[in-house]
Amino acid sequence: MHPLLKTMFVCTLLLAMPVHALDPHGHKDRSTEVSRFISDMKADNGVYMVTHNIDFYAGLAKGQKPKMTLVTCSDSRVQANMFDRAPEGELFTIRNIGNQLATAEGSVEYGVHHLHTPILMFLGHSRCGAIAAVGGNYSKESPAIKKELDTIGIPKDIGNLEGVTANVHNQVSLAMIKFSEEVAGGDLVVMGAVMDFADDLHQGAGKFHVININGEKDPAQLVNISALLAKNKPKPVAAKVVKKVDTQNTPAAEHAKPDEHDAHAAPAAHH
Ligand SMILES: [Zn+2]
Repeated sequence: MHPLLKTMFVCTLLLAMPVHALDPHGHKDRSTEVSRFISDMKADNGVYMVTHNIDFYAGLAKGQKPKMTLVTCSDSRVQANMFDRAPEGELFTIRNIGNQLATAEGSVEYGVHHLHTPILMFLGHSRCGAIAAVGGNYSKESPAIKKELDTIGIPKDIGNLEGVTANVHNQVSLAMIKFSEEVAGGDLVVMGAVMDFADDLHQGAGKFHVININGEKDPAQLVNISALLAKNKPKPVAAKVVKKVDTQNTPAAEHAKPDEHDAHAAPAAHH
C-alpha cells in the first residue's frame, strides 16, 4: 500500500474507534480521549505562543503585581476569561470546591499579605455541585471531600442559587474578620460575586454579578462602586496621626523600605 494511503487508512481507523473502548478487564480505555486532549492543548498553546508578543512575555518574566486575589470554585465551567480578557498577571487565583476560604488560608494570605492585591474576591457560580452536596447529604463522601464541604455553612435543603449566594456572603464575612486591619485601613476591598452561566438570576446567561462589597449587599448601593468605596474610606485624620508618629520615631525613607522590598520580593517567588 502507498505510504500516504496507509496513513490515511490508520487515521480513519483511529477516528472510527469508540472513545471509551473496553479493555479485556472491562475497564474503559480512555487513552484516545486523553491523547486527543493533550494534542489539543499543544495546538492551542502553539496559537497562544504566536498571538502574544515578546513584550507580553518579558512583562510576565519580570514578576507579578496582581490586582486581585481570587477565590473561585474549581468547577470547569467557570473560567477567568468570562470577566477578564487578559487575566495573566492580574489574577492571583485559588480554586477549590465551593470557593471557600477555610481550606485555602495560606494561599489567600499570600495574595493579600505578600502580593498586596487591593481586592480579594470570592466568586460562586450557578448550578454549583459543592453547594448542592452541602444542601443534601454528603456523609458518604471521603474524609478529604467532607473536610472541605464542612467549611460551607449553609442551611440544608436550600435552593442552589440561594445556597451559592449565601456561601459567597459567608466567605466575604469570614475574610473581613481575618483581614479586618487591611479593610479598615483601606488597603483591601473584599468582594463577592456570582458567575451566572445558567441565567438563574434572569439577567442574561454568562452575566457576572457583584453581590457584596465589604459587607454591603444592597443592590442599590452596589450600582455605584466608587461612591460606595469613597463613603467607606478611612478618615484622613487617622492617617495624619499615624504619619506624625512615624516621622517622630522613624526616618520616613527608612520606614518606606520594608514595604517596597516586600512588594518587589514577592513576585520573584514565581507563583
Ligand atoms: Zn462550584
